[in-house]
Amino acid sequence: MSLRQERACMLCGVIRTQQQFLREGCPNCEAELSFAGEDTTNVIECTSPSFEGIVALGEAEQSWVAKWLRIDNFQPGLYAVKVSGKLPPDVVNDLEAKGIHYRPRDGSVTD
Ligand SMILES: [Zn+2]
Repeated sequence: MSLRQERACMLCGVIRTQQQFLREGCPNCEAELSFAGEDTTNVIECTSPSFEGIVALGEAEQSWVAKWLRIDNFQPGLYAVKVSGKLPPDVVNDLEAKGIHYRPRDGSVTD
């Protein structure tokens, strides 16, 4: 299976193809990041083709994996443990303004 078309959302880590992001958006962050539509800008800037450690999150998952990834409230799907790259500063500012704290998934933040 080729993963070349797949990208991971930098905010929640969900993995979808670029086409899926454009067609359906992100199942968790669409309200914040507005991926769906003709314009590929947000998909290019806010998702990354470089990620590692794929985990499958099931329905109503309460697993240690979900807790560890802090994705226990997210939609079922495939998620990346680590996503390279960071959201652009203006996007991060928009998120902060909405009370959403962006925690980069590139491994730079450990706590
Ligand atoms: Zn997302």
